[in-house]
Amino acid sequence: MKNKEKPVLYIVIPCYNEEAVLPITEPLFKGKIDELISLGKIDEESCVLFVNDGSSDSTWDLISSCAKNDTHVKGISLSRNRGHQNALLAGLMEAKDLSDITISIDCDGQDDINAMNEMVDRYLEGYDVVYGVRSKRETDTFFKRFTAESFYRLLNWMGAEVVFNHADYRLLSKRVLNEFAEYREVNLFLRGMIPLVGFRSTSVYYERNERLAGESHYPLKKMLGLAFDGITSLSIRPIRMITGIGVLTCVLTFIGLIIALIKGNSLWIGTCLICLLLGITITAIGVVGEYVGKTYMETKHRPRYIIAERTYEED
Ligand code: UDP
Ligand code: MG
Repeated sequence: MKNKEKPVLYIVIPCYNEEAVLPITEPLFKGKIDELISLGKIDEESCVLFVNDGSSDSTWDLISSCAKNDTHVKGISLSRNRGHQNALLAGLMEAKDLSDITISIDCDGQDDINAMNEMVDRYLEGYDVVYGVRSKRETDTFFKRFTAESFYRLLNWMGAEVVFNHADYRLLSKRVLNEFAEYREVNLFLRGMIPLVGFRSTSVYYERNERLAGESHYPLKKMLGLAFDGITSLSIRPIRMITGIGVLTCVLTFIGLIIALIKGNSLWIGTCLICLLLGITITAIGVVGEYVGKTYMETKHRPRYIIAERTYEED
């Protein structure tokens, strides 16, 4: 059942050492809440929820003082730095019971907050997930654009379903979050996991700006780490590739062996036999890996299905 009243919106914002940008963006987020309330789209109880991800600068002091001065601003602080994805999850799980919808966004002003109006409209039309998608990446450097776009292509090729050019700017309904709470894995890659939950989803498009102040926390090393986590936590395709290489080696060397036998070349026969054994070994590793991969997926204890609607009310 959809909530008939106006929805309570929580804007969830992870912050790590953001003292330079928070004083600029905090009024913008708060202004957006006020605007959406006065437009009659969301409930008065709507809020901005900042998550302090163990910052070592004055970020938490800034958040606390904003929260003190304004009822539409709240904050939670993690015990230590846990990284963007964990901080975001903490915020979403906190907001889940307090709100009807959440919109997650970075605190650096790169994502256009005006797309939130359209996100809420889409929710009111009946969508449970609204992805914010960058329409162009002109403000990114060529290197960042190239690495990021290759990353999306690689992920999709590896079998992880991700929305092209969507990061972590998205609206989620309460029921999506309630179901998502059952995904108990430790390696988080939210943008690849949310599509697994299902429900009606759509995208809104926006232009991405430069960071308003401060510095990016995603240098190449962290970006590669995120890409690797994304692939390995969502897909066991790399293991399948090993099996594939093993089988291919076997087939090719088997053909080679037959040709060598016909020609009667003993050096060739020996070489092909060694290669064949190698192929069998690689295949065997792949097969073992397949079981390890299955076990890995099992240990996540993901829900096997999610019921979207019922013809009757649950109690
Ligand atoms: N962030 C976080 N914990 C971290 C690193 C980053 O909560 O360990 C937050 C950061 O404050 C920002 C968002 O995650 O709100 C995205 O980080 P950033 O803007 O540095 O990444 P980029 O946009 O350059 O990819
Ligand atoms: Mg950023």
